[in-house]
Amino acid sequence: MRSIYDMSYEQMEDWCISKGWKKFRTQQIFAWLYKERVEDFDLMTNLSKETREELKKDFYFNPLTLVRKQESRDGTTKFLFRTHDGALLESVMMVFDYGNSICVSSQVGCNMGCTFCASGLTKKQRDLTSAEMTAQVMHVQKELDKKGERLSHVVVMGTGEPFDNYDAVMNFIKTVNHDRGLAIGSRHITISTSGLVERIRQFAEGHYQYNLAISLHAPNDELRTKIMPINRAFSMDQLMDAVAYYTSLNNRRLTFEYILLKGVNDSLEQAHELADLLRPYCCYVNLIPYNAVDEHGYQTTSRTDAMRFYDVLKKEGISVTIRKEHGSDIDAACGQLRIKEMKKEKSLKLNDKAGAGE
Ligand code: SAH
Ligand code: SF4
Repeated sequence: MRSIYDMSYEQMEDWCISKGWKKFRTQQIFAWLYKERVEDFDLMTNLSKETREELKKDFYFNPLTLVRKQESRDGTTKFLFRTHDGALLESVMMVFDYGNSICVSSQVGCNMGCTFCASGLTKKQRDLTSAEMTAQVMHVQKELDKKGERLSHVVVMGTGEPFDNYDAVMNFIKTVNHDRGLAIGSRHITISTSGLVERIRQFAEGHYQYNLAISLHAPNDELRTKIMPINRAFSMDQLMDAVAYYTSLNNRRLTFEYILLKGVNDSLEQAHELADLLRPYCCYVNLIPYNAVDEHGYQTTSRTDAMRFYDVLKKEGISVTIRKEHGSDIDAACGQLRIKEMKKEKSLKLNDKAGAGE
């Protein structure tokens, strides 16, 4: 048995064909799933009883149950879910002037051990299935349905390294993007990676129209290795080669994310060094105000210093923005709600790689 949210449109078509049915059934099934958004096969009233019984034999609906919802004054809402096997995961819905965006988790925990990140505190327990990612989006969309609104953007920037769960993430995005699925435009979908070089190359070869964001956070190898252990596996030279490969195959700008950590990566010399590094590439830089994570001990760069850093990049000709903070009154840093719940349930096992200044 698997969740029906696991099935891409093409997989559903193959399944229908395997039952000896016309492909057209897939259109009907997908309309019930993603347009009507029902969660009961018996509500699929234009399907015969036999068809519904066949579906029930092979599929169930929702692989997640909601544990808690936390809403911020600015509209940011966090959702804490539990999987069938008891794992906790988190999604965040943010309201922007351009629409509603969901930040999706791709794994339970994360093995990358970045020293500033709440998710890096825990080891990866497992990858999330495609259905568990789709279910996060469906849950939030159904909440929005009550207000007559829709999700317009999906970012895979929650807990986990999406490129360490490549196939499931790409399958999930297919359904989100598909006209008969949630029909969210490719350019409104963003995947963020800490820099798995082979996967960036694989993604480049797929010629997708989705946005790619790379978590850089440092202008040189020495500092990046200190704060992001993945830099030991893939040096910045290798990373930037993969970036060049991506831009050579895709006529798209990619985004570099750069968290501002006070006294660590936010000096004006580092801003110049970053500008020199990125100048040859067709890219944007997104400066991210750091959401402090108690366990790590890093601090956020002041607004004034962030603006100075920004100005250097701008003057050096780099396209740069500073991300607006969201939900700072509700443990905004991705993964914090999950860690809190795990502490409460005494199931928190810390990743030995995590910790400031390691
Ligand atoms: N693993 C992927 C995607 C999830 S993290 C990646 O690292 O890109 C998504 C983004 O949130 C990354 O840029 C990450 O560095 C950033 N991030 C992690 N912890 C943060 C925090 N406490 N405050 C602000 N941004 C954070
Ligand atoms: Fe994992 Fe991304 Fe957090 Fe690093 S920043 S620990 S890769 S989720």
